[in-house]
Amino acid sequence: MRTRIIGGLVIPVTQSGLWYENGHVVVEDGRIVAVGPGEGPTVPGEAVVNAAGKYVLPGFVNAHGHAAMALLRGFADDLPLMDWLQKKVWPIEDRLTGEDIYWGTMLALLEMIEGGTTTFADMYFHMDRVAEAVAQAGVRGVLSRGIIGTSPDEGRGAIRESREFARRWHGAEGGRITVTLGPHAPYTCPPAVLRQVVEVSAELGVGIQIHLSETRSEVEQIVASHGKSPVDVCAEAGLFERPTLVAHAVHLTEADIDLMARFDVRVAHNPGSNLKLGSGVAPLPKLLQRGVVVGLGTDGAASNNNLDLLEEIRLAALIHKGVGEDPIAVDADTALALGTREGARALFLEEGAGTLAPGAPADLIFMDGSGPHLLPLYNPISQVVYAAKSGDVTDVMCDGRWLLRDRQHQTLDRDKILFHVGRIVEGFTR
Ligand SMILES: [Zn+2]
Repeated sequence: MRTRIIGGLVIPVTQSGLWYENGHVVVEDGRIVAVGPGEGPTVPGEAVVNAAGKYVLPGFVNAHGHAAMALLRGFADDLPLMDWLQKKVWPIEDRLTGEDIYWGTMLALLEMIEGGTTTFADMYFHMDRVAEAVAQAGVRGVLSRGIIGTSPDEGRGAIRESREFARRWHGAEGGRITVTLGPHAPYTCPPAVLRQVVEVSAELGVGIQIHLSETRSEVEQIVASHGKSPVDVCAEAGLFERPTLVAHAVHLTEADIDLMARFDVRVAHNPGSNLKLGSGVAPLPKLLQRGVVVGLGTDGAASNNNLDLLEEIRLAALIHKGVGEDPIAVDADTALALGTREGARALFLEEGAGTLAPGAPADLIFMDGSGPHLLPLYNPISQVVYAAKSGDVTDVMCDGRWLLRDRQHQTLDRDKILFHVGRIVEGFTR
């Protein structure tokens, strides 16, 4: 099956400042096979899709989150991280069944697909049910069973489950599902557990994702108990010898950044969640200057409170200008790349993922460019980053398959998902 998309404004995100006002993208067998200006040389028998009046972009990459926490959207707001986790989130998470997590993930997938996200990272539990949801929805998922190892038994159990989960799902669905190991954070996983995670990661040939240096108090606590920073704790446990993605990385020393750059540690920057939980602002411009690969994440819906990656792109472009009093700190080109190409690199996906380039996986979206908030048009990249809304997304393709056409889901039953979510949350009391 070969599809030629014509007439749209194509932004390939392969190099800064590049777009084709009236371009084409050709997709065959789940891959992009041609991109360029005009309609390109047509081939008999191919399907033609007219994208006139629309932007054609790579799908967004949500590099950090906990999808099923969509069930807890608005459940506990305006609290510090530890109170939020310990008093509100963890008690209710203890009660969540696999069925609850399946439907919560489905709710998140409805939202992410409608907002143009084609790839997401997830760290949670009952991950077989999450993987089932990903398989059905048709998106790309980088999934990990969250490992909390405050007691040796708990740590061993979660690592065993992670190992079994990886055996079942790593590389499944034609490679759409990748499994990584998910030690929650250095404050919930002592070095012995982290070292075990490193061993299993090497044995299974999978990467690692972890929360790191999210809040000042967490860093102070680790420094008090270990005499070194959370980044150093991870490095000494051998984590950075493996492909590792760290979420947040808000409170970093110069030495931490040096170490992360040297070991090619990748970062998921979550500006919305960090702002909402009052965690601070990650040193994004500094990380980028040092060549650290950074993607963007929403984090869970309980700390954001939406899964709108375009909003994170805009926040990433805006907050560093404000905090650094520097209007060129993160430009529109950079911000769009963080939400697409660099997010794919942060997740260690294949070369070219997150772009519209020949050979890349066919993960792309259309955005309607006709709204008054998008007119007139001078620079399409600035327009997408500073003016567009995720509600402008009309069509979504992942792995060459349409997930959304004219805002209609092609793989998910919206009403059924909303019905089940309603039924589940009836049992939650604030
Ligand atoms: Zn998180």
